[in-house]
Amino acid sequence: MQEMFKAHREIVNSITSLDETEKELLYSALNIHGHFCGGMPMGYLAGLAGLKALGTTRELSMDKEVIVYVGDHHAGGCFADGVQFATGCTFGKGIMSKDPRGKWAYMLIDKKSKKAVKVTVKPEIMQAAFDAPFITKYRLKGIPPAEVDQDVAKQAFLGLFGKKLEDIVNIEGPFNYDPKKGNSCFNLAFCDKCGDAVAENYLRVEDGKKVCLDCFTYTNLIERK
Ligand SMILES: [Zn+2]
Ligand SMILES: [Zn+2]
Repeated sequence: MQEMFKAHREIVNSITSLDETEKELLYSALNIHGHFCGGMPMGYLAGLAGLKALGTTRELSMDKEVIVYVGDHHAGGCFADGVQFATGCTFGKGIMSKDPRGKWAYMLIDKKSKKAVKVTVKPEIMQAAFDAPFITKYRLKGIPPAEVDQDVAKQAFLGLFGKKLEDIVNIEGPFNYDPKKGNSCFNLAFCDKCGDAVAENYLRVEDGKKVCLDCFTYTNLIERK
């Protein structure tokens, strides 16, 4: 473990584009995340960009909130850890949630001012990450991130730090955001297959039938026996 912490400290100290506080937090993030990869630092930088765009600083209490749009069962989920550590909007404090859309993006909300920004990694940055040997030579072949050749993994980790934040992400906002004003669904529907009552916004269409998530089979991620 001590060797690992030392390696983490060394790589973080080599980054010249972050200030001392940002480096210290990245070091903590890396220790908790556990391995070198491209996704976590990408999320970390996206997190810094969101804070800057919203004109705010890392959340120490519970006044801000993050909704992250990465999904499950796809590459780059580590992104969410980076966003979490940079913004201080953590899962444990109940101010980070996932709205899985399979996108490397998130929304940062200031609950007091009711302002928010949406931060999305630029498509060309995503393409470059997926073209890098970390993915093509290792992760695609099923090699776990911690077992990737460490030089390759470190390269993936450091990849974005030379770039300006505005060259990494697109930012929408700040815009007004009032979570209470969202369109909550009050339409009751019934699944055409099993008959269960289901909120309409959770219905899917399959073979022309309106079905609940339990009956939906196209890309159902729940494994069934
Ligand atoms: Zn990772
Ligand atoms: Zn059903």
